[in-house]
Amino acid sequence: MSHLVHRSLRSDPPIAVSGRGIYLYDAEGREVIDGSGGAAVACLGHAHPKVLAAMKAQMEKLCYAHTALFSCESAERLADIMVGHAPGGLTHAYFCSSGSEGNEAALKMARQYFLEIGQPQRTRFIARRQSYHGNTLGALAAGGNAMRRKPYLPILSDAFSHVSPCYAYRDRRDDESDEQYVARLAAELEAEFQRLGPDTVIAFIAETVVGATLGCVAALPGYFKAVREICDRHGALLILDEVMSGVGRCGTLHAWEQEGIAPDIQVVAKGLGGGYQPIGGILVSGRVIEGLAAGSGAFMHGHTYQAHPVACAAAVAVQEVIREENLLENVRRMGKRLEERLTERLGNHRHVGDIRGRGLFWAVELVRDRAGKEVFDPALKLNERVKMEAYARGLACYPMGGTIDGRRGDHVILAPPYTVTAGQIDTIVERFGDAVEAAVAGV
Ligand code: PMP
Repeated sequence: MSHLVHRSLRSDPPIAVSGRGIYLYDAEGREVIDGSGGAAVACLGHAHPKVLAAMKAQMEKLCYAHTALFSCESAERLADIMVGHAPGGLTHAYFCSSGSEGNEAALKMARQYFLEIGQPQRTRFIARRQSYHGNTLGALAAGGNAMRRKPYLPILSDAFSHVSPCYAYRDRRDDESDEQYVARLAAELEAEFQRLGPDTVIAFIAETVVGATLGCVAALPGYFKAVREICDRHGALLILDEVMSGVGRCGTLHAWEQEGIAPDIQVVAKGLGGGYQPIGGILVSGRVIEGLAAGSGAFMHGHTYQAHPVACAAAVAVQEVIREENLLENVRRMGKRLEERLTERLGNHRHVGDIRGRGLFWAVELVRDRAGKEVFDPALKLNERVKMEAYARGLACYPMGGTIDGRRGDHVILAPPYTVTAGQIDTIVERFGDAVEAAVAGV
């Protein structure tokens, strides 16, 4: 048995030994297509020469300088890239080492903003059920992933309350139009503001496209406009968590660009550094930074490895490659192909309830029966079975759902690198379709 603490303490996972482009190679010598970039992380695939060269050059120049004393060139450049041309008034960036740290920073900056502008009574956050914002205690308290929260409920902050997500596949009533469903969700959010007292709310926080907990669920048109309007009316901030869905994954640099609104604070991570280094961050609007600057003049938060020079150099290179190789265009084109191929292969499958996503961020929700949307028994761990069957066929994909909350089906995420080719999309769908067939056979 391994001495390392793995996710499962009962079985050891395969050992990944090397990666090149879209492929990973394990210790058994197996070649596997990285069909989900881990958890939608590896946006350029593996061993991209430009990113490796940028990291090496940075390491030879400067590996570390503490941010209490210095800034560094790569962090400054990354901030310029991420907010320099951003729509929506985002003007500043803060970089840390993960998505959870990014969410912690967002929550704390939002609270500090209201302290600085003389509204200390704002102490509450509204988040959504069936969401995930990270595994640190603050981010876990914000999230609505029942399975991950359950063991820690007694030690989670009660500053967070949760409203329904926008999950049309299951939650829109048969007698409701899209507009009526969105209006119902907006009314629920408004009622939660009223219940708490509108001037006690710091922010509403949501994933722009829900990642792991629901499986690539985008909101219906008009939902985020309604949310933005409610936050504005009550003077609260809007925090959008784009750790999974952002930085190009959905076909635009920011997923919120497709919603016709902008957040006050945005959380980014996975696609920022593409997995080459651990890096996350927040992108912040001028309004919030001005509030802090005019008040105490400092962000009362920070970590030893924030704005790490090598992590930032890797992320700069990743972002430059995305631009130079016009990869957002490829995300949109290949995303369309992925949708079409998935629909051809699985659209009429008796156990496929929904195929959904944006850009190169797609999920297939598996159900016992299509018409009634009845879920499989979570004990069957069907999503895990799909993962295993896919791996045996040379495809890595990301399984979720099932055990998280019994009301939902199992879902499996596909999120290939932005560099994926048409032929590779076809192979991914072929292997994935075969894996789903094999997993559901006999259940
Ligand atoms: N927010 C979202 C939307 C995520 O998908 C994740 C990770 N799956 C996180 C936050 C936490 O990021 P990390 O695991 O890097 O801490």
